[in-house]
Amino acid sequence: MKGNKFTATVFLIISLLCCFISGKAFSAMKEEEPIIPGSGVVEEKMLSEYFSPLKGTNGDTRIYVLKGKEPGGKVLVLGGTHPNEPSGYMSAITLIENAKLQKGTMYIIPRSNNSAFTHNDPQEGSPQRFTIKTSHGERWFRYGSRATNPLDQWPDPDVYIHASSGQRLSGSETRNINRAYPGRPDGTFTEKVCFGIAEFIRSEDIDLTIDLHEASPEYPVINATVAHERAMPIASKAVIELQLKGIQMGLEPSPKNFHGLTHRELGDYTDTLAVLMETANAAQGRLRGRTDEHLVLTGKDKEYVKAAKLGRLFVPYDENGHPLEERVGRHVTGIMELVKAYNEQNPDRGIVIENVPSYDELLNKGLGEFLNPAD
Ligand SMILES: [Zn+2]
Repeated sequence: MKGNKFTATVFLIISLLCCFISGKAFSAMKEEEPIIPGSGVVEEKMLSEYFSPLKGTNGDTRIYVLKGKEPGGKVLVLGGTHPNEPSGYMSAITLIENAKLQKGTMYIIPRSNNSAFTHNDPQEGSPQRFTIKTSHGERWFRYGSRATNPLDQWPDPDVYIHASSGQRLSGSETRNINRAYPGRPDGTFTEKVCFGIAEFIRSEDIDLTIDLHEASPEYPVINATVAHERAMPIASKAVIELQLKGIQMGLEPSPKNFHGLTHRELGDYTDTLAVLMETANAAQGRLRGRTDEHLVLTGKDKEYVKAAKLGRLFVPYDENGHPLEERVGRHVTGIMELVKAYNEQNPDRGIVIENVPSYDELLNKGLGEFLNPAD
């Protein structure tokens, strides 16, 4: 009996210790990576200024404003719709830290689903953060989840019914911000964030909205631009320009019967021209091998090289992988080409963005070269 009590006490202490350690690791995910705005940023706003119920919640998120001397059009860049797709928010951060506007306004939301940055997807073995070396030391960034943290929205229904279309998806998609647009003011936490972003677009009269994503190399829509029908003329022009630069990019029309996505609902429920871009991220793929920071940064994975040889992928894949700087290079170059195409069609509402690293500069110098020193 004595022995049993002793063993029980030891096990109790061990389990309390495990709870304490995992609790610490879990709550550490709430810490935000530092973003060091460049001189191009003139103002920082919060999404709750456009939809007040978000105030004080994990759904509230920062909006960085870059404004030119001359008035012009307005472009919005959405990063971090899915925080397990790092090239999206790293491109947003690269713009915040470098870009300068000559004409018009650029709004950047690096953490579109802020709540999804505060946890990892269970059983994926993803790193909680990754580090990038710069000439002035290291900078760290968060690697989060595809979906809203269950602490902010729980439980999931068995079937998720998209409010405005009646579309039925699996229950966990109820926490996917890119299945919940245009959102509802009295809906779920995720729908409220979507509604906030749509309200922001309506009140600021955003002309062009670009949502940045990544996908698994085995997913058919990859290295691709998806455009709402009203945005098709500028998206097709931009894709041709990217291909002339040697950047392979596909073009897909936004499906009319696939609901909840930015390129469909923001195009339908606001006046903005809605476009989404995808790059290839092995760290979120199903065929990947070891999952760590190295995979996030280099995209090098032996299993994907094998899969490419078997013809299973929708993107070329060899031993060189797809490093983060290449994926960011694709996104920022894509943004510049979309804005140029927008300007050609709207000369009276032009947007002129400067000091953005080119695809070649990012590939040759690395992403760290374009990140500012931490305070
Ligand atoms: Zn995505």
